Amino acid sequence: MGDRGQQIHIVGAGLAGSECAYQLAEMGYSVVLYEMREKKSSPAHKTGFFAELVCSNSFGSQTDYSAPGQLKWEANRLNSFILQMAEAARIPAGMALAVDRDIFAHQVTKAIHDHPRITIVNEAIENFNQIRRPAVIATGPLTYEPLAKSMGQYFNKEFLYFFDAIAPVVDVDSLNMDLIWRADRWGQGTGDYLNCPMNRKQYESLVNEIINAHKVEPKGFEKTPYFKACMPIEVMAEKGLETLRFGPLSPKGLFNSKSNERPYAVVQLRQDNREGTAYNLVGFQTKMTYPEQKRVFRMITGLEDAEFLKLGSIHRNLFINSPCCLTPWLSSCKDPDLFFAGQITGVEGYFESTCIGLLVAHFLNNHCQRKIPNLPPRESALGSLLHAITEPKENFQPTNINFGLYPNINIPEVKKPYRNRKQLKRAHQVERARYAMLQWIAKQKVRL
Ligand SMILES: Cc1cc2nc3c(=O)[nH]c(=O)nc-3n(C[C@H](O)[C@H](O)[C@H](O)COP(=O)(O)OP(=O)(O)OC[C@H]3O[C@@H](n4cnc5c(N)ncnc54)[C@H](O)[C@@H]3O)c2cc1C
Repeated sequence: MGDRGQQIHIVGAGLAGSECAYQLAEMGYSVVLYEMREKKSSPAHKTGFFAELVCSNSFGSQTDYSAPGQLKWEANRLNSFILQMAEAARIPAGMALAVDRDIFAHQVTKAIHDHPRITIVNEAIENFNQIRRPAVIATGPLTYEPLAKSMGQYFNKEFLYFFDAIAPVVDVDSLNMDLIWRADRWGQGTGDYLNCPMNRKQYESLVNEIINAHKVEPKGFEKTPYFKACMPIEVMAEKGLETLRFGPLSPKGLFNSKSNERPYAVVQLRQDNREGTAYNLVGFQTKMTYPEQKRVFRMITGLEDAEFLKLGSIHRNLFINSPCCLTPWLSSCKDPDLFFAGQITGVEGYFESTCIGLLVAHFLNNHCQRKIPNLPPRESALGSLLHAITEPKENFQPTNINFGLYPNINIPEVKKPYRNRKQLKRAHQVERARYAMLQWIAKQKVRL
């Protein structure tokens, strides 16, 4: 347990900063948490609440034997604060952990405010010298520009910039429910998605209009590669006529119960708030101009009169070249008391960022007790994610959790109930990850 007198300074009350602050406060540290949004806003945040979700309202799959599901399993064993808050704000979304974003952010903010060992400072930090040590920088992909500049100087410009894109949200009452039907793929779940069927002609004209629509032109420094899980719809459409049908508009596992036929392509809408009044267009992140989004997306079956509550947009994303600049436990190679957490370390996604905040709290606890930080086992999801952002590599790019990050495993032969080698391999990888994680937790004597 931490020394109650010892103070830790955390910059950024997003997902990673909130998770890290709460964990350290629970361990007994006195935490000072700096958040700028009462005074300065970011290009994507809309409120002053902590842990605001700026785009999708989903933390991703929670299915057993999936890579994101295993990450949640491990974070749960480590008492993730953000996971608990997400569960409490949960809304139906099949096997995904989706939340009412307002309830979620409100709960996180309240819990942090109410914590007796956390002091909140509403201030935009402009450089590292302003912050006492030990410190954690968790300022996210939209780090306040003056701090981002000073970080560029600090790391000798070993920075990378790239862009993500936001998907539009529509008002459910403006949808034509005579044409849209409710179902989850393969008939699983409780019918949480709204499905808009497209025939071949409709699909092809939609793709054509998406390609030809006016786009917001990126500025010079913005012309960097997109992260593939958040690729704008038009970038995918430009890859070929069939790309969207094998991606977000895939009809796989969907049968239109209203028209009694298999659709050629399907646009899926996912619930965006607890009341179920707002739905987002899954996979429709875009840099199309606002008038063009309205014109083109109203070509989607059932969206002819759609009212857009939120339109898509492009945004900056910033991350450190972590393998070059950080230690395996995410402190600066130049300053052992300066740690980094969240998306800025090169992970991508809400829950991945949260998990790095969780790990950094444990590393800092070890560090403050003058111990070498105890890294999670390589076989685990947490260990695999950490390895992906700290292992030296030539062309470092952000990543979300996926089975490709787990160490390989040899499978002798496929046995029932597994259908194929891939399924069996993943089951083994997950079992191995669970076993390794439980052993690590027992060894760490972390709170359970
Ligand atoms: C527009 C956009 C859309 C996205 N869409 C998705 C999505 O749909 N799904 C998904 O999984 N991920 C998405 N991401 C990625 C997502 O933002 C991150 O995964 C996650 O929010 C990162 O968490 P974080 O804690 O690292 O940063 P954040 O959640 O961004 O938190 C950083 C905090 O630091 C504060 N801050 C910044 N600079 C300073 C400063 N100098 N001083 C004080 N405070 C400061 C900010 O105000 C913010 O509260 C998106 C990112 C962006 C930018």
